[in-house]
Amino acid sequence: MVPYRHAVITGGAGFIGSHLAERLLAGGTRVTVLDDLSTGRRANLQAFLARGGRFVQGDAADPRLVRELFAEADAVVHLAAAVGVRLVVERAAECIERNLEPTRVVLFEAARRGLPVVLASSSEVYGRAAGARFHEEDDLVLGPPSRPRWAYACSKLLDEFLALALVRERGLRAVVVRLFNTVGPRQSGRWGMVLPRFIEQARAGGPLTVYGDGTQSRCFTWVGDVVRGLEALLSCEAAWGKVVNLGSDEEVTIRELAERVRARLNPAAPIAYVPYAEAYGPGFDDMPRRRPDLRRARELIGWQPTLDLEAIIDALARTPPGGPLPGGA
Ligand code: UDP
Repeated sequence: MVPYRHAVITGGAGFIGSHLAERLLAGGTRVTVLDDLSTGRRANLQAFLARGGRFVQGDAADPRLVRELFAEADAVVHLAAAVGVRLVVERAAECIERNLEPTRVVLFEAARRGLPVVLASSSEVYGRAAGARFHEEDDLVLGPPSRPRWAYACSKLLDEFLALALVRERGLRAVVVRLFNTVGPRQSGRWGMVLPRFIEQARAGGPLTVYGDGTQSRCFTWVGDVVRGLEALLSCEAAWGKVVNLGSDEEVTIRELAERVRARLNPAAPIAYVPYAEAYGPGFDDMPRRRPDLRRARELIGWQPTLDLEAIIDALARTPPGGPLPGGA
């Protein structure tokens, strides 16, 4: 794999971005992180900065700043986006703006300069799909705009359309990556993500809050596996113009997840079942399942996750709460 000379990572102070920044840096690439710290944290970059990484605080929707940073770069990973179901439900307008504006600026500038781009999208775009495994070429079914949750899927989908249109029409070298539920050190439960919340809740003596009846399922991927996949896709020419799923296909119900976290961390902690309406307000649509078809990632970059859920829960249980953030994913 050819390491790039200088990569820009938008949203690089976030959970996934900070791990990727460290990984690219360790592989010999200079890395500039661009982040407005709206949900990212400077503390996530401690190890990155100590090893010579560069951080620029700013908005990826600022065309002048993006032009300036891209002038020195030869690769781009665009991770800056709205984060968390809670934000989407409570502030959908902001979420739409934050998913669309920066992507438009980043993709047009990358196309103008001929820079390769990895665009992070989300398994959220699969919407109400009911299949056992979601394939990148599946039809997509989203809920109506009266339900704000779908604003996230719809805005990320438009990002995907823009990337693929620029590939066809302007020769942009871009791959769209649909990330499934990703977990690991530095992920905050503040934006609603279930696994860090369960871990924090179990440590605090409970209750672990399961929304709905807990029969909905998800597949959790270790952040180290995800950033390895992102790095590989950045140099994979066969992936330009394609959408690629990255995630685990080991499915677990949320009820079982709560039970497993509790068993590992604090068997005395109670589990509470919270109606969706109480958790997110009325009219919330949850996805019953979300499991990727991983054939494309395997064919293109030989990728598959290395940590199973057991190992993930164990690794998170051993990560000190609020303590020094472990370096390296
Ligand atoms: N969830 C839960 N308790 C929480 C937070 C989330 O039961 O405290 C549920 C949520 O309703 C969803 C699943 O866990 O069914 C995953 O939620 P998350 O927000 O982590 O990711 P996403 O919904 O985007 O897959």
